[in-house]
Amino acid sequence: MSATLLDGRKVASELIESLKPKVKELDPKLVIVQVGEDPASESYIKQKVKSCDAVGMRHDHKKLSEKTTLEELMSIINELNSDDDVTGFIVQLPLPSHLQPHVPKIIRAIDPKKDVDGFCAYNLGKTFLSKEFENLLPATPAGIISILEHYKIDVAGKDVVIVGRSNTVGKPLAVMLMNRDATVTVCHSRTKELGLRTKEADILIVAVGKPKFVTADMVKKGAVVIDVGINRVDGKLVGDTDFVEIAKKTSAITPVPGGVGPVTVACLIQNVVRASERR
Ligand code: NAP
Repeated sequence: MSATLLDGRKVASELIESLKPKVKELDPKLVIVQVGEDPASESYIKQKVKSCDAVGMRHDHKKLSEKTTLEELMSIINELNSDDDVTGFIVQLPLPSHLQPHVPKIIRAIDPKKDVDGFCAYNLGKTFLSKEFENLLPATPAGIISILEHYKIDVAGKDVVIVGRSNTVGKPLAVMLMNRDATVTVCHSRTKELGLRTKEADILIVAVGKPKFVTADMVKKGAVVIDVGINRVDGKLVGDTDFVEIAKKTSAITPVPGGVGPVTVACLIQNVVRASERR
């Protein structure tokens, strides 16, 4: 392998370290609302709780029954919105199938000042204005930007291709990269000639959710590759790229696990600190 390994654990632990003094001064509190027992959510929440403990942040995990109704969940959101002791909270996604269609309504109910997932229209809208207005950012795109900044990979003037246009990853990331003067192409399931487009990328970011979706022939020699995907194959976590083959021809690549994931959690903690500063 000739590529530099972009070590998300290192980036995350430096970010957590840098947040400790602010956490001590502001004493913020994060609440995580979980409905049901989605196994992936259980593991993500464990990591979030671990990071809260590492940074010294107060936290509360509200685990609700799978059968929680929309009205019950909305009432809990309203309580958290008006509880002065709660700096920020997240509703862990995905929700059980009866609640999943209501996600837009549920996100709209969260007070934007406490929206530490950065999913509310108000916080996303501010991101659209310019870099100076960015504040509570969606944690995964923020994590990707942190990795690029940490390794001094300048995006200005670069051709960046993102595969995946979800509201939580691809779309906000495209805006954040434009705010930093990158030329951004966003691809999705209806994109024609995907391989030709990915091969144009100086920086290729993949958030699709399919193992080995991007193969070495789709990547330009010397490109930087950020693999956002988290897939479980034979009990092991793998990303969306053919890591071993791609690492032979790229200049830098994130591993899975140990790439974007840990920095995403650290960026959530950073949002709680920012929400606390804003109060
Ligand atoms: P998502 O909402 O399911 O979006 C997937 C995107 O991939 C969609 O835009 C979809 O296109 C696109 N896509 C699917 N098949 C495609 C194809 N054949 N060609 C081109 N594009 C295709 O997923 P997500 O929430 O963004 O997550 C993506 C992956 O990242 C998942 O593995 C998830 O677990 C992982 N993830 C990791 C972190 C982390 O912290 N590391 C955080 C969030 C997500 P359409 O829009 O046309 O359907």
